[in-house]
Amino acid sequence: MLTRQAEDYLKTIYEIERDGDAAATTAIATRLGIAPASVSGMVRRLARQGLVAVERYRGARLTARGRRVALQMIRRHRILESYLVTRLGFGWDGVHEEAERLEHAASADLIDRMAAALGNPDVDPHGAPIPRTDGSVDDTRLRTLDDLAVGSPARVARMSDRDPALLRYLGELGIRPGVTLRLVDRAPFEGPLTVAVGRARHVIGSAVARKVYVR
Ligand SMILES: [Zn+2]
Repeated sequence: MLTRQAEDYLKTIYEIERDGDAAATTAIATRLGIAPASVSGMVRRLARQGLVAVERYRGARLTARGRRVALQMIRRHRILESYLVTRLGFGWDGVHEEAERLEHAASADLIDRMAAALGNPDVDPHGAPIPRTDGSVDDTRLRTLDDLAVGSPARVARMSDRDPALLRYLGELGIRPGVTLRLVDRAPFEGPLTVAVGRARHVIGSAVARKVYVR
């Protein structure tokens, strides 16, 4: 049995590693909002348990076992979010914190039953892929909205689920997974972007556009 803290570390290391690099202590600390000094001790403990391998001067990488646990936590999190939104009427901006707590408490059986009740969805309400029971996941890197060429249409694939205010804002603009939009204009020097969503045009900041993933 792992502690809640250990489970959160593995999930965080998985997310950082997705970008290619080993998870440096500072990167883990930033994501978890804690001091780097307390991260090193926990990473060493995870290494002793065979869940991560530490690369000197670079950071931690998940072992096959660590990756399995991380994906299991992510599966729980995303199924819980899906269930809360689809079956219990929560807004998509209100489920992340709830799922953060429940993912550590729910049994594998409960999660599988929730998934089955939902018809085993592939993605959660924020468009994030749900790992399958065998640990496979379609976690391909997607480009962000601010990366699009002007004039090109794209379909919204997913967005960060961490900031409820951002999700509410995007929801008001009609920017949700599955929606088609088009980048109309981009102001120079990281200026705002003009985006066409259906007949509406919205001007959004490039920081917001970096949190929306498109295909
Ligand atoms: Zn979430």
